[in-house]
Amino acid sequence: MSENVYQIAIDGPSGSGKSTLAKGAAKALNIMYLDTGAMYRTCALCSIKTGVDTRDEEAVKKMLGSMKLEIKFQDGVQHMILNGEDVTGSIRTEEVSKAASNISTWPFVRTAMVEMQRKIAADQSFVVDGRDIGSVVLPNAKYKFFLTASAEARAKRRFLELTQKGDNNQTYEDVLKDIIWRDKQDSERAASPLVKVDDAVEIDTSDIGIEETLDLLLSYIKE
Ligand code: C5P
Repeated sequence: MSENVYQIAIDGPSGSGKSTLAKGAAKALNIMYLDTGAMYRTCALCSIKTGVDTRDEEAVKKMLGSMKLEIKFQDGVQHMILNGEDVTGSIRTEEVSKAASNISTWPFVRTAMVEMQRKIAADQSFVVDGRDIGSVVLPNAKYKFFLTASAEARAKRRFLELTQKGDNNQTYEDVLKDIIWRDKQDSERAASPLVKVDDAVEIDTSDIGIEETLDLLLSYIKE
């Protein structure tokens, strides 16, 4: 890795504002952004499309062996390509979120994704967000952040996002229940659970907006 290449790891639970923050930081620092959740989401979408039960180890293994997952960056924007098809727009549904949380519990799925993530972030400076970036994927990242926010604050944000998209299929209570379920699964799984590593700076975003969070992150980096 060249001397000028550095990485920023941002971890945290669903809806803590990681991706908005990571995008903002990448733009402010003029470096690339890698969303690792999108990779697990793409595996999940593949399981849905092919009718594979995410709890069936052998079926998931077989699927992983035959699927082709590519990541393309176009003008800095990450595109997920599944078996030749751009699925970037199809991986943000609640069905995919749940399946992603399930499929990401398999250690062999994680090993394959982590290998790709390390390769991508090796030659260029990157902000990488996920659950295990500071702990497993890039333990030597120059800067590490861990975002938190109450489940209620995260559910409120997610509900607002869905309403703005015109998606009225879920109540606030449904969204909160999903967030609590995903938090539990992401934190309690045996393989690379969501944890705050000791050398990460924790930022609680419950009561602060994205601009303030970004200013905080940039001030730590400038220090
Ligand atoms: O971040 P996002 O909500 O898009 O991630 C979807 C799911 O993928 C998470 O709920 C989590 O289970 C899984 N994930 C993971 N490790 C990562 C990123 C995401 O296990 N580094």
